[in-house]
Amino acid sequence: MNKLLDARKIANVPFIILSGFRCRSYNHTIGGRAASDHVTGQGSDIRALDSSTYFEILSAAILAGFLRIGPNRGAIHLGNNPTNPQRVCWTYY
Ligand SMILES: [Zn+2]
Repeated sequence: MNKLLDARKIANVPFIILSGFRCRSYNHTIGGRAASDHVTGQGSDIRALDSSTYFEILSAAILAGFLRIGPNRGAIHLGNNPTNPQRVCWTYY
C-alpha cells in the first residue's frame, strides 16, 4: 500500500483502482492465475485511459519500486508480491 501511495504521489494523477484484493474464489471465476498478486492483496489494476496518464502511472510505478508491472488495455497492473518473479513486465494481449 505504501508503494502504491508513493507511485500515486510521483504520478500526480488520480489512481482509479479497477481491481485490488481478490478472494481465491473470485480470482478463479474471472480467470486469474492461482498465484495472482491480487489474492495476497499485493496487486492493483489502475485505470489508464489516455496515453499521458498511462505514461505517468507507468513511469511512477518504476520510480516507486514496483517490480511486477502488467500493462493492459485501459489499465496497468502493479504487483508487489515478493514470492512471484521480480523485475518483470508483461502484456495481456
Ligand atoms: Zn492485476
